[in-house]
Amino acid sequence: MVKTKQGLLDELQARIDDDDPTPELRQGATQLVFGDGNVDADIVFIGEAPGKNEDEQGKPFVGAAGKFLNEMLEMINLRREDIYITNIVKYRPPNNRDPLPEEKEKFLPYLQEQLDIIQAKLIVTLGRHSMDVLLPGLKISQVHGRPKRYKDHVYLPLFHPAAALYNGGMRQTLIDDFALIPAILKKI
Ligand code: URA
Repeated sequence: MVKTKQGLLDELQARIDDDDPTPELRQGATQLVFGDGNVDADIVFIGEAPGKNEDEQGKPFVGAAGKFLNEMLEMINLRREDIYITNIVKYRPPNNRDPLPEEKEKFLPYLQEQLDIIQAKLIVTLGRHSMDVLLPGLKISQVHGRPKRYKDHVYLPLFHPAAALYNGGMRQTLIDDFALIPAILKKI
């Protein structure tokens, strides 16, 4: 029997649980935050790691950054149900510290598998952590808002909504970059 995308994602989630790639992170976290949204979406968003709210609710981007993200989605006529969203690191780092390079590396093969299952047209990286693992060697200040074709996928690097939330200039840049998404999608 052909497995559904959701079935394959469920298996992947169970495998992360079994493999336990970062025992220290798991021990300090409430739960695994695997991903959420529409598995048939044209766009996947990838953040950094769960924060406090995400750790409590088991879903990515449900706090202040998520609220801002929802507002930007609305500006381009999308809702959370239209997209899929996840993070590179799937457990909350202690005190919301930045994920360590080895933590990102350990989760990368799982993220790649997750992306291969979903097969979205466009992968939007939010912030430098998810950009660094998927599009190595780039500077976000130079490449944000510009789609990049790389290894069978089209990526769009954007600033992270949490970083842009309280920084007027970056906030407007992120909103402007978001507004490019419909035209980029149409072209793919
Ligand atoms: N920031 C992230 O990078 N991911 C989340 O899930 C929430 C905030």
